[in-house]
Amino acid sequence: MKKHVFNAGPCILPQPAIESAIAAIKDFDGTGVGLLEISHRTPGWERIMAETEQLWRDLLHIPDGYKVLFLGGGASTQFCYVPYNLMARKAAYLQTGTWAKKAAKEARLFGEVEIVASSEDKNYSYIPTGYTVPTDADYFHITTNNTIFGTELHTDLDSPVPLVADMSSDIMSRPVDVSKYALIYGGAQKNVGPAGVTFVIVREDMLGKVDRPIPTMIDYRTHVNGSSMFNTPPVFAIYVMHETLKWLKELGGVEAMYEMNKRKAELLYAEIDRNKMFTGTARREDRSIMNVCFVMADGYKDQEAAFMELAKARGMVGIKGHRSVGGFRASIYNACPLESVQALVDCMREFEGNY
Ligand SMILES: *Cc1c(COP(=O)(O)O)cnc(C)c1O
Repeated sequence: MKKHVFNAGPCILPQPAIESAIAAIKDFDGTGVGLLEISHRTPGWERIMAETEQLWRDLLHIPDGYKVLFLGGGASTQFCYVPYNLMARKAAYLQTGTWAKKAAKEARLFGEVEIVASSEDKNYSYIPTGYTVPTDADYFHITTNNTIFGTELHTDLDSPVPLVADMSSDIMSRPVDVSKYALIYGGAQKNVGPAGVTFVIVREDMLGKVDRPIPTMIDYRTHVNGSSMFNTPPVFAIYVMHETLKWLKELGGVEAMYEMNKRKAELLYAEIDRNKMFTGTARREDRSIMNVCFVMADGYKDQEAAFMELAKARGMVGIKGHRSVGGFRASIYNACPLESVQALVDCMREFEGNY
């Protein structure tokens, strides 16, 4: 039976990227040597690195003055890179979920952290507004999409201080005005590739402003100067990212993808709102187009296991909600096809009909 993959990360990837990775593992670039066995100093690999950076630049219209880095360690390691490199004295954080809270925790090791607002009071079901960002902060850190709670910032914020964003789970899902950000980072494994590579888009004038000594590998300047090849880069993960971005470009880029993503999200939210047995958990205006969280509605709470059983029987994979929200979460990233979303909607209708 066909599986419909809604995993939150690692998650579904475009089939052409998978096929091309399989071929490259056997024979990279016609060299007769497999991708996992080549030297990362071979010219063919250097071309892949350069093309991958160019794909990022083209797809997100990244202006001059910014570097795109491919590092290891995941987004979680960036929680420490960012303050290490950018915080002289103080930073501001918007606490919109578990990942945002973890990022702020690391920053406290380096100086004063001001939480400008938090939605923890309502289990992170909304994005706070009406707060003030202190102008003496070295940067303001936000999480644009809250993967666990299914909320998303739908606009690029105006900030009086340099804006830093964790975009792990909505990068490349919608157009972003990169010029409004000083630094954007994320793990690849939600929308742009497999686990193992972390992207960082950094405005070069942000670097070299703190006095503390920074370990070589954690200093962004090392990777800017070494073009992400200071040490061995995660070649396999970068290759799959390259193929994933090529696929995205062929589909019409981030702008076209955004239209498709909105369609998928609208389809699923419309069913959640229509179906009497389900209810969404995020505030309507903050609903994520990437992670759709819903629970059984009042009166049907005891039906959760039964719906999960039907969903499994219909081929749904990965729809169990995170333990901090419960219920269900469908992660409908770029590579998740409309037909999978339709299959989930059909399944919800069938469940309601059976009841
Ligand atoms: C998944 C996720 C992370 C953690 O990413 P790792 O690469 O596993 O460290 C951080 N932030 C957000 C928003 C995420 O979705």
